Amino acid sequence: MQNDWPNRAKGESRQSQGQSSGSQATPIEWHDDRPKEECGVIGVYSPDSQAARQIFFALFALQHRGQESAGIAVTDGHDVRMHRAMGLISQVFDEEKLLPLVGDMGIGHTRYSTSGASVLRNAQPIYCTSSVGEIAVAHNGNLINANQLRQELVQEGETLDTTADSEVIARLLVKNLHLGPENAVSAVMKRIKGAYSVTVLTPNMVLGFRDPNGVRPLVAGRIGSGWMVASESCAFWPVGGEVEHEVGPGEVVIIDQSGMRFAQAAPKVKDTMCLFEFIYFARPDSEMYGEGLYQVRENMGRELAKEQPVDADVVVPVPDSGIPAAQGFSQESGIPFHEAMMKSRYIHRTFIQPDQRLRELGVRMKLAPLKGQINGKRIVLVDDSIVRATTTKQIVKLLFDCGAREVHVRITAPPIKYPCFYGIDMASKGELAAAVMSIPEICKHLGANTLGYLSIEGASRATGGANGKLCLACFNGEYPISVPAGMTKMAFEEPPDVGQLATVTRGQGTLDF
Ligand code: SF4
Repeated sequence: MQNDWPNRAKGESRQSQGQSSGSQATPIEWHDDRPKEECGVIGVYSPDSQAARQIFFALFALQHRGQESAGIAVTDGHDVRMHRAMGLISQVFDEEKLLPLVGDMGIGHTRYSTSGASVLRNAQPIYCTSSVGEIAVAHNGNLINANQLRQELVQEGETLDTTADSEVIARLLVKNLHLGPENAVSAVMKRIKGAYSVTVLTPNMVLGFRDPNGVRPLVAGRIGSGWMVASESCAFWPVGGEVEHEVGPGEVVIIDQSGMRFAQAAPKVKDTMCLFEFIYFARPDSEMYGEGLYQVRENMGRELAKEQPVDADVVVPVPDSGIPAAQGFSQESGIPFHEAMMKSRYIHRTFIQPDQRLRELGVRMKLAPLKGQINGKRIVLVDDSIVRATTTKQIVKLLFDCGAREVHVRITAPPIKYPCFYGIDMASKGELAAAVMSIPEICKHLGANTLGYLSIEGASRATGGANGKLCLACFNGEYPISVPAGMTKMAFEEPPDVGQLATVTRGQGTLDF
C-alpha cells in the first residue's frame, strides 16, 4: 500500500489535509490549574451492530479524559477504516464521518497529549500494517523508556510516523503478532516500561492490556451480545453495557467471535493505581477497585473535615469536581453546604482565542458567583487540588470581591510536590506550588484566611478497597516505576526520521478512511 501520510490506513484520504478552518487550532485552556487528564481508550466487538456507533457514544463518557483529539478505527475482518481529527468527539464525528466506518469490531480514543505534541499526526488510534494484516492501537498512559525503544526501532529500520510514545507500542506489537495475541502482548510488555492501558484492533480480534503496576484503569464487560473494554466503567452505561471484570495489572483481555477471555501477559509487579483517578480524573459515576468514585470523594471531604476543621457559616465547592468532597465536609462538620459559583459548562475547551482584556478577566470566563450565597459569609472553599495555585488564588479573590468575610481553603489532594511521569500533565517541579512554598506561604499567596490539605493517609483511607494499592508519587516522591532523568512530554518532538511529516502543520486537518 502506498503510504504517503503518517499513520494512514487503507483508503485513507488526504482531501481534508490543511483545509480546516481556524476551528482546528489548539484549544484554549481557560486558566484551569488542574492536572490534565490523560486519554481514554475503548475496544468493542458488537456482532449485532456497527462498532463505530457504539464506540462513538461510549467515547462521550470518556471525553473528560482528553479533549484534544479523538478517533475511531473499525474493521470488517479485512480492512481497517478510521477517522481521527483534532477536537472534541462532537466536533470530530458526525453522521457523515461515522457512515463509512463499517465493521463489528473497533477501538476508539480520546486524547490529551502527555507524550508528544497536540497535533494531528499524534492523534490516535495509531495505524500500522503487520504480518496478520492491518492493526490499530490506542493508548492511555506514558512510557518511560520510549526514547530508548524509539532509537532501537529506528536502528532496526523502522520509520516512525508520530512523535507519541504510543507508536512504540504499536510497532513492537506489529513485530510480534505472528506469535499469537497472548504471546505478542507478553513480548511487548517485556520491552515497554511505564504506565499503560492499551486497546488493539486486529482483523479478527480486539485486545486490551494493562501495565504490570496497573497505574491507569481498564475494565471489561458485556455490551449486548458482544464485548467491550474501556478506561472507565462509566463508558458502559450509555451503550447498555455492564462491567464484568477489572483488568488486572499485567493482564490482557482478548475479545473475538468466541467471546472474551483473559490471560496474564506479564507478572503483576504491584498494584499502584493512580490516586488522582480517585481524587479528580475519573468520572464520579465510575467504579474502581469496587468503589464508587462519588462516594470516595465524599469520604475524602469527611476525612478533610476531621483533619482540618474550621469554624465557618457555609461549605462551598469549586464546581463541579469539588462538589462531592464539599458535601462530605458539610456532613462531617455540620456546616451547611451551598453552591456559590456557577460553572459555564461549554467554554471549557474553546478554540476561539480570547483577547488580552478577556484573558485578564481570568476565572470570570468560567465561574460566575451567586453573590447572595457569599456576601457576609465565612466560607469553607473545598476543591480537589492545587497545582500552580493560579486558579485557586483567583477564586479566593472572587469570593472576597463578592463580600465574603472569611475564606478557608480545604483541598482533598495532599500537597503535590513532584511531577507525574505516568500519563498526567501537571507541571514541572518548579511550577508546583507545594514544591516551592510552605503551606503558610501558599495560604498567603492565595490571600485566604486558612489553608488545609488532606493528608496522604487520609486520602488513601478514603479510597476504601484501593487503600495500600495506590501510586502516591506526586505526593511523596516514591515512584513505583523508576523514571529516567530529563524525561519530558516533548522528548520525541524532533525525531530523526519523520521528514515526510513536515507538511503536517500544528492542529490542522483530519485523517479519514
Ligand atoms: S504520580 Fe500522581 S498523578 Fe501520576 S500516576 Fe502517580 S498518583 Fe497519579
